[in-house]
Amino acid sequence: MILVTGGSGLVGKHLKDIMPDAVYISSKDFDLMDIDRVDAMMDFFKPKVVVHLAARVGNLIDNMAYPVDYLEQNVMMSSNVLQKCHEYKVERVISMLSTCIYPDVVKNYPMTEKDLFNGPPPPTNFSYGIAKRCIATHIDSYVKQYDKKWCYLIPCNLYGEYDKYEEHLSHFVSALIKKIHESKDVLELWGTGTPLRQYMYGGDLARVIKYVIDNDINDNFNVAPDYVYTIKELAEIGIKACGKEHLKLNFDESKPDGQFRKDVDSSKLLSVLDDFEFTSLDVGIKKVYDNFSKRHN
Ligand code: NAP
Repeated sequence: MILVTGGSGLVGKHLKDIMPDAVYISSKDFDLMDIDRVDAMMDFFKPKVVVHLAARVGNLIDNMAYPVDYLEQNVMMSSNVLQKCHEYKVERVISMLSTCIYPDVVKNYPMTEKDLFNGPPPPTNFSYGIAKRCIATHIDSYVKQYDKKWCYLIPCNLYGEYDKYEEHLSHFVSALIKKIHESKDVLELWGTGTPLRQYMYGGDLARVIKYVIDNDINDNFNVAPDYVYTIKELAEIGIKACGKEHLKLNFDESKPDGQFRKDVDSSKLLSVLDDFEFTSLDVGIKKVYDNFSKRHN
C-alpha cells in the first residue's frame, strides 16, 4: 500500500485526485513530530511506499518570522519518518525538497541537481533550506549505507486550487490571484517587476509523483516547467487569464524585489518521462481563478 504524509496539503490533495487508492495522512491523524505516533502509523499501515510530503511550508514572511519552527519541524518530522521507514522496511520513499533551498546565487542558470550544495541557501529562508538539505543528505545516506530505493524531488514554487490564501502563508501566484480578484482599477505589486520566477501547477507535480511511483524510478530530480517569466509578465498573464484586462498594473519600486532568479533545469526529469507536458501558466491560473471566484463570490 501507498502512504502519503501531508495528505491534507496542496500537493497531497492534488495527488489524491489522481491516486485515490493511497492512504492520506494529516497532522490530525498522526503528529509526525512525535516518533511514537510515527511508529504507530507505520505499524498500523505497514506501507510498501511512502510519499513524504508533510512539512512546515509558508512564504518568506512566515519563514523570516519563525526560523526555529521551520528548522525544527522539518528536520524532526522527516527524521522520524525516515527512521521508521527504515525500521519497517518501506521499499520506496519519495520525499519533497524545494527549489528555494538551492544556493542564493550560482554562476550559471538554470540550476541543475548538482548545484544543490554549491553555496548557502538564501538568508530569507535559510532555516527551511538547511532543514530540507538535511532531508536530502538523510536520504542520500540511507541510499549509500543501506542501498535503499529512496529518492527526492525538488519542485519549484507551486500554485493550485488547494493553496492557502492567508497572507503569511500564500505563495506569489495564489496571492496574485486573490489580489486580481479583489482589485478594482489598479493591481499594485511590490518591487520593479523584473525578477524571474518559475511556477508550476500543483496537479503537474502530482502527475510526476505518480509517474515516478508507477515506473519504479529511483533518482533525484528537479521538477519545474521550462518557462520562466518576469514578475511583470506573470502579472500580465494573470490579469488576462482572469478576464480583468481593465486593471492597470502598478509597481511600488520602494518595496524590495527579493531574489532575482532561482530557476532550475528539469531536463534530467524530462529525459525519463514519456510525453509529459506541463500545464501552461495561463491555463493553470484560469483554472485556479475560476475555482477561487466560485468560492468567494
Ligand atoms: P501544505 O499545503 O502546507 O501542507 C503541509 C502538510 O503537512 C499538511 O498536510 C499538514 O497537515 C502536514 N503537516 C504539517 N505538520 C505536520 C505534523 N506535525 N504532523 C503531520 N503532518 C503535518 O504543503 P504543500 O504545499 O502541499 O507541500 C508539500 C511538500 O512539497 C512539502 O514538503 C513542501 O516543502 C514541498 N514543496 C511545496 C511547494 C509549494 O509551493 N507549496 C514548493 C516546493 C516544494 P495538516 O493539514 O493537518 O496541518
